[in-house]
Amino acid sequence: MKDTKIPYKIYLDEKEMPTAWYNLRADMKNKPDPLLDPATGKPVTAEALGQVFCRELVEQELNETDAYIPIPQEIRDFYRMYRPSPLVRAYCLEKKLGTPAKIYYKFEGNNTSGSHKLNSAIAQAYYAKNQGLVGVTTETGAGQWGTALSMACAYLGLDCKVFMVKVSYEQKPHRREVMRTYGASVTPSPSTETEAGRRILSEHPGTTGSLGCAISEAVEAAVTREGYRYVLGSVLNQVLLHQTVIGLETKTALDKYGVKPDIIIGCAGGGSNLGGLISPFMGEVMRGEADYRFIAVEPASCPSLTRGSYVYDYCDTGRICPLAKMYTLGSSFIPAPNHAGGLRYHGMSPILSQLYHDGYLEARSVKQTDVFEAAEEFARVEGILPAPESSHAIRVAIDEAKKCIETGEEKTIVFGLTGTGYFDMTSYQKFNDGKMSDYIPTDEEIAASLALTPKF
Ligand SMILES: *Cc1c(COP(=O)(O)O)cnc(C)c1O
Repeated sequence: MKDTKIPYKIYLDEKEMPTAWYNLRADMKNKPDPLLDPATGKPVTAEALGQVFCRELVEQELNETDAYIPIPQEIRDFYRMYRPSPLVRAYCLEKKLGTPAKIYYKFEGNNTSGSHKLNSAIAQAYYAKNQGLVGVTTETGAGQWGTALSMACAYLGLDCKVFMVKVSYEQKPHRREVMRTYGASVTPSPSTETEAGRRILSEHPGTTGSLGCAISEAVEAAVTREGYRYVLGSVLNQVLLHQTVIGLETKTALDKYGVKPDIIIGCAGGGSNLGGLISPFMGEVMRGEADYRFIAVEPASCPSLTRGSYVYDYCDTGRICPLAKMYTLGSSFIPAPNHAGGLRYHGMSPILSQLYHDGYLEARSVKQTDVFEAAEEFARVEGILPAPESSHAIRVAIDEAKKCIETGEEKTIVFGLTGTGYFDMTSYQKFNDGKMSDYIPTDEEIAASLALTPKF
């Protein structure tokens, strides 16, 4: 009965927006293992990290004790331009599926970057500006992160240098132009601009690039330039921290209507949106206050949680970044070129890796043809053309809602709809033409890549 009172879209008041990010590590019993310095094999110091990252962000990266970290006013003002984001009750999808389940999605695609990435981009650019830096460098895969960062940098007057995975640079020219419109310079990676790029090009001529490789180039470009630091759009603790605005808003909105989710689902590339969405809920689990099921959804073509190993590995192909203990496919793993659905990173957030390892988080891998089928089904009834990445979460949300048809259970399912797919029409075209195929790496391929992880 109460349901009839729930609107299609739950918007929060500006006053209800979070004023602090939630740092889940403060409540985790088993903390993620520390980042290691690749040169010494010892935990990295704040000083060493400060060569690569902005000062304040290093503090956030290493902070395991403060549960709440205040969001500076300037960042909150920027958030107000496109937040709070709506939590939508998917009445139309429920009806179409004929499920007794109640489905909600938190939609992060309402800004030009088209995804949740702006939540962390503005924070990172803000701290860089605050430190008096000239600019930042970064990598981008599909282009959402680069776009988000270029928007944040334009707003704050910072220079922005983006290394874009070559295959995306060629397949997504419009993304590239959005970034340039916002004033960023965009270089296809691997490039001949950096030593890392030149080395990768000589070892793998004709490579279409990878995120790990673009990271190496961006880091090198930052440390060899005065007044520049490197910023990263996922994986790191600080990024997951900034993305907790997603989960905090979701929780406030649900609490407002007395709704308690049973299952919370998100797609997982490097793990930042999923980590941000589940953090406040996971915190309750950690403190023994509530119980939820959490599901991470990853592509079958890049299955770090479901088929990777939990070991220390390089965060980048060039092996110059700190080592992280995480679920990984090996830093040399590159998903098959026919993989169109994003989420291409070889590793997973150390926080999510630890949670998965300790049994708090489930993981599922899904084939891209099944993902696009779910995307299409969702788009036709809910009116939003979802990003392929987000559609991984849609796939599993639909699967779980269908299970409820069989069991008659009225489960409440919440999933993260991280963004829109307008720049992914080449992939949609492949799907519509029936030309999309699935490539699932063999055990041998994964083992070969994992064999190259460092031994400790
Ligand atoms: C980048 C991106 C993701 C994956 O990144 P995470 O760090 O795993 O959240 C998911 N969806 C969209 C739309 C993205 O742009």
